[in-house]
Amino acid sequence: AWERVRRRLRAELGEDVFSSWFARVELAGIIDGVAYLTVPTRFLKSWLEAHYAERLRVNCIAELPAPNGIMLSVRQVSRDSSQAVVIEPAAFRARPAAAATNAATAQAPSTAGSGAPPCERDLVDACGTVLDRRLNFQNFIVGKSNQLAFAAAERIAAAPAGSTPYNPLYLHAGVGLGKTHLLQAIAQEARRQGKRVAYFTADRFMYGFVAALKSQTALAFKEKLRGIDLLVVDDVQFIQGKSIQQEFGHTINALIDAGKQIVVAGDRLANDLEALDERIRSRLGGGLVVEVGELDEALRAKILGSRLETLHAAHPNFHVNPDVVTYVARVVATNGRDLDGAANRLLAHATLSGQPVTLETAEAAIRDLVRTREPRRVKIEDIQKLVATRYNVSRADILSERRTAAVVKPRQIAMYLSKALTPRSLPEIGRRFGGRDHTTVLHAVRKIEKAITEDRSLHDEVDLLKRMLQE
Ligand code: ADP
Ligand code: MG
Repeated sequence: AWERVRRRLRAELGEDVFSSWFARVELAGIIDGVAYLTVPTRFLKSWLEAHYAERLRVNCIAELPAPNGIMLSVRQVSRDSSQAVVIEPAAFRARPAAAATNAATAQAPSTAGSGAPPCERDLVDACGTVLDRRLNFQNFIVGKSNQLAFAAAERIAAAPAGSTPYNPLYLHAGVGLGKTHLLQAIAQEARRQGKRVAYFTADRFMYGFVAALKSQTALAFKEKLRGIDLLVVDDVQFIQGKSIQQEFGHTINALIDAGKQIVVAGDRLANDLEALDERIRSRLGGGLVVEVGELDEALRAKILGSRLETLHAAHPNFHVNPDVVTYVARVVATNGRDLDGAANRLLAHATLSGQPVTLETAEAAIRDLVRTREPRRVKIEDIQKLVATRYNVSRADILSERRTAAVVKPRQIAMYLSKALTPRSLPEIGRRFGGRDHTTVLHAVRKIEKAITEDRSLHDEVDLLKRMLQE
């Protein structure tokens, strides 16, 4: 079926366009009626979103069992398995066809009709396609690390048009901690109340502005923006280019001066956005600045639980018992994006195998999400080098037959560390230490084990070596 989508695109767009932009698009899977497409680069993703979103969506809906549209994400090939695709959730979900018109966010009064200049359509498009119904306030789980951000967001969304409780609101946090979720929630809630909202990612703002410049409708684009009540801009760290930054700066200033609410999110403090114009930084830093902190284990468990509930509603046979949720939330200690990834994998696993999710299958399904956090593998060679340097002997001495005390002690420590820090067997370690017998290695390991219980300073020293090797 995916082949048919490709054939259609090729026929519609011609071989050149197809091979430039679509040849490397892959279908990762279909979940909940949404086709998950992946591309190799962020640039390609932005480009497809900006220029071919609708075409992709229409063709996917026509050929795939994906009535809910598409989600585009950047492929992240994990180090261990080229199979694993990390789906960046909610970055881009086309609206279902039936809801097309009312999902368009910037309901500027004069948008109707085909006579609208390109910039207006861009704006409406830009807003319509990036909003994801799932990312609302009800689905946002509040904990210590995000309660301030949540409260500010709710307050802004609820404020009547024309009143600006905190202006601008600048949210910052690392990846996957809920910035986009809060921004989309604000936009959706404000729109529900009849406010005119423009929601942009940095990419979209740039494309919108560049497109408007090209068609010489930049003025109209600005006017359009100035007619809104609330401007939401996500991932501001990606706004690049002097003239676009200038334009962005002017837009924010003009809107704030006109009493319009601005909400911006970025991945660091405004002042640390080195690429951004100084005046924009200080403007963003001058309003309410709120950081969203890391998710603690309890919060992760709640977020994962709620995500799984949503999936369960769509797939009644898909159950995950609380033990598994606790386990996954403990080991996937990164962010909401990885929790989404974990939930999708559990679902995929359950669906493909037809088996209930157990602790064991869960562990296998999410293994590569966890692996990145394991401590570094220590190599025997590194151990030998470090120990040699520390005791002022050469690595050759350690591997040699020499039995002077000055060499024996470091050799035994190195063997002990090899056993403690690597998965190598005793015979293997013996082999790597100049072809020694495994009993020699065992003797060394026992000897050092005993010595460090008796000799405090040796204990501390070996401990230090361990830590140096593991860093
Ligand atoms: P960011 O924009 O900060 O990178 P996102 O808003 O995209 O992060 O969040 C990543 C995923 O984690 C989303 O699916 C989002 O819904 C989920 N998520 C993050 N924080 C929360 C939360 N507090 N409650 C519910 N879901 C959350
Ligand atoms: Mg985001």
